[in-house]
Amino acid sequence: MSNTTKSPAARSEGGRNGSGDLGDGNKALAYSRVSAPAAIQCAWCEHVFDSSDEYLHGRVRCSQCGVATTNPWPSDAQLAEAYGDWYRPKSGRFSGLGDKVLHRLRAGLANRLHRVLPPGPVLDVGAGDGNLVEAFVRHGREAVGLEPYGSGPHIRQAEVEEVDGSWSAVIFWHSLEHVRHPARALSHATTLVAPGGKLIVAVPNATSMQARAFGDRWFALDLPRHLTHISPDALVSKIQEAGLQVESVSYYRGGQVVFGWVHGLVGLLPGHPDLYDVIRRSEAQSVEQSLAMRLYALGAGVAALPVALVASAIEVAARSGGTVCVEARRETAAE
Ligand SMILES: [Zn+2]
Repeated sequence: MSNTTKSPAARSEGGRNGSGDLGDGNKALAYSRVSAPAAIQCAWCEHVFDSSDEYLHGRVRCSQCGVATTNPWPSDAQLAEAYGDWYRPKSGRFSGLGDKVLHRLRAGLANRLHRVLPPGPVLDVGAGDGNLVEAFVRHGREAVGLEPYGSGPHIRQAEVEEVDGSWSAVIFWHSLEHVRHPARALSHATTLVAPGGKLIVAVPNATSMQARAFGDRWFALDLPRHLTHISPDALVSKIQEAGLQVESVSYYRGGQVVFGWVHGLVGLLPGHPDLYDVIRRSEAQSVEQSLAMRLYALGAGVAALPVALVASAIEVAARSGGTVCVEARRETAAE
């Protein structure tokens, strides 16, 4: 089960057993911790870190707001490397049916939102492959996706702070945790929501049962791409502070709940197989996976599925699911 690291950043610090990692093929190695500066303040509330904060593997949890900030704080070059062509190749990210499933999930989300939103354009912040934007366009709705590393007819390489106008929906679908100034981005986004329109934010739930169960190996830590590790409380408060009406807080709509458990359970096995890497196309893997490792991880994933389903049902029922999706509305003047 030999793994060959593809990332030049990881190679430069001595491959899989470089400094500061978990001593195996963990994804946290996607950037060199040696050359990145320490995080000095909370990326969510700007509290300057001191001895009151909790220093964890690869992140610091703020004593003031409860959000954790990735530490060390990666440079632009390190992030560019972490999002390199290998991460999201043109051929698609996942092997087998994975990309088709992703496409269908995004289309389902667009269908549901299209029915409940007032007429008007939709802004998808962090549009990724553009699947969600294209699904809105198929409904005949104007839609724009923002993606700093993306391209396509409806994609703009811009930050949300550069956008103005009035939108019937502004969506952060697993993207807020990727931006350097998430609270600022969120605050600006709330000003773009038209009266009667919606703000929809889905992020990994850093205080979920699965986050606590798997700790430093939790699937959705995804260092260094996830720069903040957000709690539902912090997210809801920020949206309410901006004057929007929170209509729902869902612990399953954000997806990835069952996968988070399967991934975590498989990662507990000897060799700590990374199931997320295994299901990606070979050109989209952070480390080359041998056939033996792929079969081992996939078999373990199938075996872990019943346990993962039960654990997911429990954490969703306890409102502590692995992701949180908040939907909020700007009231119309008449309300
Ligand atoms: Zn904070």
